[in-house]
Parts: sequence; structure tokens; C-alpha cells
Amino acid sequence: MADPVLTFTDRGIYCPAADVFIDPWKPVDRALITHGHADHARPGMGRYLATAGAAPVMRHRLGDIRIETVAYGETRRIGDASISFHPAGHVPGSAQIRVEVGGEIWVVSGDYKVAPDGLSDPFEPVRCHAFITECTFGLPVFRWDSQDAVAMQINDWWRGNAAEGRATILGAYALGKAQRLLSAIDASMGPILTHGAVENTNEVLRAQGLPLPDTIRVTPELNPKDHPGALVLATPSALGTAWARRFGPASTGFASGWMALRGVRRRRAADRGFVLSDHADWEGLNTAIAETGAERIFATHGYIQIFRRWLESRGYDAAIVETQYEGETLDPDPAEAP
Ligand SMILES: [Zn+2]
Ligand SMILES: [Zn+2]
Repeated sequence: MADPVLTFTDRGIYCPAADVFIDPWKPVDRALITHGHADHARPGMGRYLATAGAAPVMRHRLGDIRIETVAYGETRRIGDASISFHPAGHVPGSAQIRVEVGGEIWVVSGDYKVAPDGLSDPFEPVRCHAFITECTFGLPVFRWDSQDAVAMQINDWWRGNAAEGRATILGAYALGKAQRLLSAIDASMGPILTHGAVENTNEVLRAQGLPLPDTIRVTPELNPKDHPGALVLATPSALGTAWARRFGPASTGFASGWMALRGVRRRRAADRGFVLSDHADWEGLNTAIAETGAERIFATHGYIQIFRRWLESRGYDAAIVETQYEGETLDPDPAEAP
């Protein structure tokens, strides 16, 4: 019997026909990378292949790496496999990786989000026989409002804080969520200050042509009094620290899919929780899986046990795969980790 198109090893997802790994977590010679978050793009690979949109952040994070880029939809022949990258809608440059060997097609989706965010290329369903999926928010309780609706909640909160002389501190991941918020909120309402990790990513993404409003980097010399009514975009780990206290009286908010769960917000030292995720919600996961037409589903991270049983009840051939990928973590920030 021929090898399966992909196998699951202790170093990562492996394609025997091409002799490449996808998002490996241990050093390998040749790695195909879905996107720049730290749990998917790790240091130490001999060679990297990623989309042109993901490469700048990877270079920024991983330093001097040997990386080749592809455009979405471009097919590469590697060994006996045809490999192409397709938009995952998760963060700018993020991709699902399609691997075809002898007419059989498997797709590794990495992390994905079905709803468009205005910055990332929108998720594109890819027909396949086997689909490897996350299920970070694989419970029916997770249902996302539209990005516009969440942006309006944030605008109202910011306006109220500014009127009462408080700073507005919003925690969000430095890669993806922060830029999505920047482009969705009403940036004309006041100055926007950014944590260094957020601003570093902003600079990388601006340089590749993504339209982001003007922001001011928070440096040790910055005097918050010079920026009354500001919105401060912080990393999750900066909330509740001395870094955040310098802004004086403030209201603190956190934007995450986990804010849909009561109790999580309380533990985050946040006054306000905004339900916004770069991962698919329950409906998004189910829609995405149905649109692939796949019969075999592998769940990599999230509510994998429950989600597998759900898929089996729907008639899928579903399995769980042990990986080192993380979904939306509350802390630490996946873009800050090494
Ligand atoms: Zn990710
Ligand atoms: Zn991830």
C-alpha cells in the first residue's frame, strides 16, 4: 500500500512524497509554514516555504532564515507531490496548505477564520479528501458577532472613557488581532498608542502595503498626559502591569474569542471583554469542513475530543492528532513567544 499523503510524526506533519514537514515543532530540513504565529513558524529549520504575505513577519520574528515564497494558488512540484497555498483568513499571509499525491488531496488548514476581517485574504474553501483542522472554538457556545458590531462596541467604550478622562487600554495579540482592531475601529476619535510588540508588527505589515491608521509607539519617554483620550493597544501580557499603570486612570478591555465565556474575563483583570477571534467559531468550523467535501477529518488543537465525537455523529471518519499547536491562548501572546 502506498504511504498516506501526510503522516503525523513527533516532529510535525510530514509528507513522505515530498519529504517536507508542515509547521514542524522540531528542526527539520524543509518546512512549509502556514503562518507566522510562534506555534506554527518555529526557528531552526533548514529551509522555509511560505506565502509572500507571511514571509515578512517570519523574517522579523525568526531573523536570518532561508525562506522561499509562493503566491496563493501557485502550484509547486516537490518530489511526487503538488503543493499549493490557499488563504486561511486567519492573519495576513496565513494559508491552508494543499498537498496532492497521485490524485489524492489532503489539506492542512493551520489556523483559520471564515469571516472576512478586511486585512487578511478571505478564507477560501479547498476541496479535498482529508482535511486537517483546528477546533479551538469547537463548541456551539462560540458564535461570533460581525467585526463591525464589535468595532462599534469598542468605539462606544472608548468614547465614554475619553469623556470621563480615562485612558482606554485594549489588549490584543500583536500579530493579527491588533491590526484588525486598528483597521476596524474609528481611528478619528483620538490618538492611538501602541505597545512596542504591536508597533513592530504594524511596521512590518505597513511595509508590505497593508493600510493601517497612524499610531504612536509607547516608549519610556512618552508622556501619557500629552495624549489625552487615547486608545492604548497593548499585548495581553502587558495588561495589569506597570507598563499599563503609567496611563493613570484607565478602563481595560480584552478582545478574544474566550470573552464569550463568563469567568474568563474576570480572571483577565479586564473591565470589558470584546468577543473577537482570529479563529473560526462553531458555525465557521462546520461550514468550512462541509465545504471541503472531505470524508476524513483530523482535529489538531482545541476541543478535539468533543469535536471528533460531533464529527463522527455527522458521519465523518474523524480522528485526533497530537500536535504542539495552540489555539487562541489568553497568555502568553503567540506573536511574542520566541
Ligand atoms: Zn495562528
Ligand atoms: Zn495556532
